[in-house]
Amino acid sequence: MNIHEYQAKQVLKGFGAPVAEGVPVFQAGDAEAAAKRLPGPLYVVKSQIHAGGRGKGKFKELPADAKGGVRLAKSIAEVVTNVNEMLGHTLVTKQTGPAGKQVNRLYIEDGADIDRELYLSILVDRSVGRVAFVVSTEGGMDIETVAHDTPEKIVTLAIDPAKGVTSDDVARLNEALKLSGEAAKDGETLFPLLYKAFTEKDMSLLEVNPLIVMKDGRLRVLDAKVSFDNNALFRHADMMELRDETEEDEKEIEASKYDLAYVALDGNIGCMVNGAGLAMATMDIIKLYGAEPANFLDVGGGASKEKVTAAFKIITKDPAVEGILVNIFGGIMKCDVIAEGVVAAVKEVGLKVPLVVRLEGTNVDLGKKILRESGLNVTPADDLDDAAKKIVAAVKG
Ligand code: GDP
Ligand code: MG
Repeated sequence: MNIHEYQAKQVLKGFGAPVAEGVPVFQAGDAEAAAKRLPGPLYVVKSQIHAGGRGKGKFKELPADAKGGVRLAKSIAEVVTNVNEMLGHTLVTKQTGPAGKQVNRLYIEDGADIDRELYLSILVDRSVGRVAFVVSTEGGMDIETVAHDTPEKIVTLAIDPAKGVTSDDVARLNEALKLSGEAAKDGETLFPLLYKAFTEKDMSLLEVNPLIVMKDGRLRVLDAKVSFDNNALFRHADMMELRDETEEDEKEIEASKYDLAYVALDGNIGCMVNGAGLAMATMDIIKLYGAEPANFLDVGGGASKEKVTAAFKIITKDPAVEGILVNIFGGIMKCDVIAEGVVAAVKEVGLKVPLVVRLEGTNVDLGKKILRESGLNVTPADDLDDAAKKIVAAVKG
């Protein structure tokens, strides 16, 4: 689960992180009162969407030379003008895809005088099985670009879970970020507290880009992105309240209600598979034959007919789906349950696209019989390869 920047800053502030004063705004009419609560004379108006690259983003409805999704304002009147221009409009950034995201919340912040922009993130480094800091002096821009052009400017530091962030770790982070004086002192408190926030709240990513050194030599968290580990969310009712479903894919929300492992993708072939590994392989083979999967979906081992029905309905509802591939290797999952689920879903919502089904394993004959006798227009397939070829051919017409 992701949260908005202003929420992430609130969480980090609770741990003692230095963040600017700010007020979230949901309606243009509240902008003036919000700005009046801040000291001025510099304000920042920031689009709150679950995507980065807002500063360089463009609003669809505004002329191409209009300012982006993060704007400086030098008076309260300027704040209000910007809020009116931004709120309710669609911001397209490198991370939103061409459709963009509607900006329904703005964050008005006390502006900072920036000396340097740095990069800092905390994540789970699977290669060493530890939580690690990733830092760079090259902040404020795409870290992917830094990683590509100047990888030597990125420093990774894994933390020993038994010790936490040690004074040695702090020294290494300060050195990597070229911090000295007041800023290095701020680092001594900031790095351990960010680590504490990360571990206590079961985050999967905490990204501060940029972390800034201000003109007065102090550190400040200028931007914040936080993702939580969904498997641990049940322990954090307070964080769950920060969920903004309008930012999430409708199909994924529906899938989460049925506890389905579903991820929406950009392609046109809907997939229903059991087992994450088989689901990955199915996506790979669709690509191998020149098409793109519309989703990842693992219906799991012990799925009920209701769950399978829900899954199939989610796939068919996606307007991008031009063909469906059901690929089941029945072990714990029984082929007849899958067949019943598919038939029930089609009875409810119909089937307007080609459907290729490959069933193998437990109760396979019964499964095939159910599909055959349902009268559905199903193309049977012998194995995964055959199934992928058939659905790609059907979609390409
Ligand atoms: P992002 O584009 O979505 O990553 O949004 P950020 O919050 O990182 O803001 C983008 C850029 O706007 C930053 O890298 C800064 O250069 C600039 N910016 C944001 N807040 C301030 C501020 O308080 N003062 C100044 N001078 N610039 C700011
Ligand atoms: Mg940023």
